[in-house]
Amino acid sequence: MKMERRDFLSKAALASAATLFSANSLLAATYPAKEKLGVALVGLGYYSTDLLAPALQLTQKCYLAGIVTGTPSKAETWKKKYNIPEKNIYNYQNFDQIANNPDIDVVYVVLPPSMHREFVVRAAKAGKHVFCEKPMAPSVADCEAMIKACTDNKVKLAIGYRCQHDPNIQAYMQVAKEKKFGKVKLINSAAGYFDGRSDHWKQKKALGGGVMGDMGVYALQGARLATGEEPISVLAQASTTRPEIYKEVEETMMFQLEFPSGARAACQSSYGINMNFLQVNYEKGWLKMEPQSAYNGNKGSMSDGTQINFVLSNQQAKQMDEDCIALMSKTNLIVPGEEGLRDIRVVEAIYKSVKTGKVVKI
Ligand code: NAD
Repeated sequence: MKMERRDFLSKAALASAATLFSANSLLAATYPAKEKLGVALVGLGYYSTDLLAPALQLTQKCYLAGIVTGTPSKAETWKKKYNIPEKNIYNYQNFDQIANNPDIDVVYVVLPPSMHREFVVRAAKAGKHVFCEKPMAPSVADCEAMIKACTDNKVKLAIGYRCQHDPNIQAYMQVAKEKKFGKVKLINSAAGYFDGRSDHWKQKKALGGGVMGDMGVYALQGARLATGEEPISVLAQASTTRPEIYKEVEETMMFQLEFPSGARAACQSSYGINMNFLQVNYEKGWLKMEPQSAYNGNKGSMSDGTQINFVLSNQQAKQMDEDCIALMSKTNLIVPGEEGLRDIRVVEAIYKSVKTGKVVKI
């Protein structure tokens, strides 16, 4: 029985992929201007190098057209490796000239969080659509300015919440929508890994570091997406087991959320502990995901025996393709800027709760 369900779910995944790509062919017919959108990556650190650039070799609706980097040696390496024309290579100073480059349709900001606002606003002013990595920015004011800049310049803003493009995550979002097991009672959501570094932006407040924005948003998304609701209050506590490293920002954040329906969530994130799971207890059943926010292999099960185990060839490629389809077809993005802002609103309340030691209304 379980096998049959899994088989059904896998077939459903294939069917949805087929729909996606047949929609692509239709779109190509409707929007003959460009078969593939040109993406410029801004910031060539770990995520761009190890995940996004390789994914851009697999995408069907976009390709790696340009780069923006402050390091000339990286520009040379990337130019050779990905065959990027010199005219599509920018640094942080001459970046605004990208406005005159028709090869670039989308600017993907993959910098430390404190730099997201500046580069999203500059990209929007250059008339380019923008993809921005999570956390969207350190403050609600930043997020609002980024959304406004994109609206004012008539460009779209997508946040890099790759998991929302993953059918395994969409499966539990659907359970929330259908209320398959009744109301949510209690959630336990965790996302963390051991970070051995001591001098990285993740440990620096001015650069938008701290585990809450980095891994905490995955724990938060688990709770928000599993309820389909926005939290109304939070009680949070920050801690560290390595005070010599985590001087400016928290190593671990634990936070309890209350939702309008009465559902509650206990969430944890840490740079000191490897953990990644979501457990949802409903009135009439349960759902577990482990891992819940990995690049691949997110999977889970439900109390009625349903297995969640879609196989994805590349999560980031799917994310960027789906975002580009939305841009080309002028349809809604799966994760627009407003969704990034929703998380940062909660993150601000979490820091306020840490400071005051009290429950903070959101
Ligand atoms: P990283 O430190 O590896 O790379 C950051 C890049 O920014 C580097 O190329 C660095 O040279 C550049 N940079 C420019 N100015 C800088 C400054 N003042 N200080 C530090 N670096 C500076 O970081 P990363 O892991 O690639 O993360 C970049 C962004 O991507 C962050 O927003 C992060 O949260 C996000 N990210 C998302 C995922 C995901 O799964 N969606 C995974 C990893 C990282």
